[in-house]
Amino acid sequence: MADSNETFMSWLRDAHAMEQQAEQVLSALARRIENYPELKAQIERHLEVTRRQEERVRGCIERRKGAPSTIKTTMAKMLGVAQGLSGLFVGDEVVKGMLATYTFEHMEIASYKILIAAAEKLGDNETKRVLEEIVREEEAMAKWLEDHFQAITVQYLRREDTPQATAKH
Ligand code: MG
Ligand code: FE
Repeated sequence: MADSNETFMSWLRDAHAMEQQAEQVLSALARRIENYPELKAQIERHLEVTRRQEERVRGCIERRKGAPSTIKTTMAKMLGVAQGLSGLFVGDEVVKGMLATYTFEHMEIASYKILIAAAEKLGDNETKRVLEEIVREEEAMAKWLEDHFQAITVQYLRREDTPQATAKH
């Protein structure tokens, strides 16, 4: 049976895999957005943040003497999420992309809050500090999206009613 240190390590690996997945989803989304420069720029900024998160989580894993998740594990674990999200990238993809990203941020927030509770229980203060830093970044991204739902939705609907703009959202 696994002990609490092993369980914590497997949760850290899940978080590492989650960041690898986030990197793929965000870069695919950023590439496809053309007419919403503010959203595109924010997604690109969060993509950079995500890459640093992936490195920091890997650092926590290595400090605790574990091996990071392999690409194979990542792909197997996250395939469902990836498929679900990529299916949303059609037609009204800007709005669906925003919805998917907001949902993903909240999955990240929940994952890091659980990890923080575990790090605290295990007395790993350095890992806890890193995780707290990361959860604030995820909350900031969720907040940015929330603050822009209205403007982007209105812009989307306005474009829909402008025939020459509709072809390419
Ligand atoms: Mg993240
Ligand atoms: Fe994130």
